Amino acid sequence: MAAVETALVVGAGSAGCVVAAVLARDGVDVDIVEIQNDVTALGSGITIQGNALRVLREIGAWEAASDAGYAFDTTGIRIPDGTLVAELDDIKTGGQDLPATLGMERRHLAEILVDTASAAGATLSFGMTVANFDDEGAGVDVTFSDGTNCRYDVVIGADGVKSTVRDMIGITTRPEPTGMGIFRVFTSRPDSVERTDLCYAGPAYIAGYCPTGEDSLYAYIVEPMQDREEMPPEDQLAYMRELSGAYQGPWEDIRELMIDPATVHYTWFEKMILEPPWWRGRVVLIGDAAHTCPPTIAQGAAQAMEDALVLGESLLAHSDLASALDAFMDRRYDRAKTVVDASVQVGQWMIDDDPDADIPGLFMRTLGALCEPA
Ligand SMILES: Cc1cc2nc3c(=O)[nH]c(=O)nc-3n(C[C@H](O)[C@H](O)[C@H](O)COP(=O)(O)OP(=O)(O)OC[C@H]3O[C@@H](n4cnc5c(N)ncnc54)[C@H](O)[C@@H]3O)c2cc1C
Repeated sequence: MAAVETALVVGAGSAGCVVAAVLARDGVDVDIVEIQNDVTALGSGITIQGNALRVLREIGAWEAASDAGYAFDTTGIRIPDGTLVAELDDIKTGGQDLPATLGMERRHLAEILVDTASAAGATLSFGMTVANFDDEGAGVDVTFSDGTNCRYDVVIGADGVKSTVRDMIGITTRPEPTGMGIFRVFTSRPDSVERTDLCYAGPAYIAGYCPTGEDSLYAYIVEPMQDREEMPPEDQLAYMRELSGAYQGPWEDIRELMIDPATVHYTWFEKMILEPPWWRGRVVLIGDAAHTCPPTIAQGAAQAMEDALVLGESLLAHSDLASALDAFMDRRYDRAKTVVDASVQVGQWMIDDDPDADIPGLFMRTLGALCEPA
């Protein structure tokens, strides 16, 4: 018998939908509450690596993801004038029968995950959150933002980097900026972009792009962290275009397509990993709520999905909650910490302009370790 019969998942992102799907398909009564009103509110593009694709396959979402995304197995390294100086075979962290990487529109990924969780039997309420809860040992009594109440065997906080559930269980650790900021733009895909190419030289730390479908891509430029909160969208677009002017080759085609201010986003990179355990009583955190890393290795969502799969499997495999949560923590902490530390290190080397930096070596070691399933 599973450790839980009922579960509340707070947040319908990657972590929340995956854990809901895993539990619901095995008969656990799962409710998900999502504070946003609509799944389509979650925009932009994402690089999904093989270890996350393995999770998508495990929950039955791989074919839909494959149809919606753009798969590739190599990464190009370019210098600012556009010259391709290296073509690297990506590590297939999900195994040889899955692509190394799938670029996707975040909106498509979100829709597929929500559909998968719903098809597995989870009940999803948009525009809803948890107002408060009382974990009184034998169960958690939850009051929702619409005033309704329900009791659950477990509450799973999958509510992202600014997690409210984390606050509610008294964990005071918070994400910290790493010193880098990123401009991202979403455009149609010129024929010159068929995979991710990265440039680690020029005025920015990183300039890169990732195809997300036959007719879409996202491109990004990573710079020293700045206060750009108040910058109007038109100015963000103009500034990103100006920064991108240092990069030629496919960037020349992308620049032509960078015309809509609404498709440009700026954000800081953040880092955090909670000391174990990631739970208090019957309330447990997964995904960005428990650990967040700068996307220098593009593993944040993959680690969130791995947390979710492992938590789901642990809750199903153990008959008591304490053993299930211990098993979850044993399988997750070291692996998530390895990814957070490596992601932070890559960025720090760039900030320090460290002559001894070994970015390819760290990539190989970290991604190599992720080939073993979580
Ligand atoms: C600039 C940038 C680029 C990135 N690129 C990549 C990449 O290419 N590849 C990759 O693998 N990772 C990437 N990441 C990391 C990735 O986006 C996150 O690690 C991943 O989204 C975490 O998933 P999650 O489900 O834990 O959280 P989220 O995706 O943030 O989902 C949390 C959900 O909870 C909801 N929510 C929040 N508060 C509440 C509440 N109180 N009640 C109910 N619902 C709530 C939110 O609306 C959201 O839907 C990137 C991150 C950044 C910042």
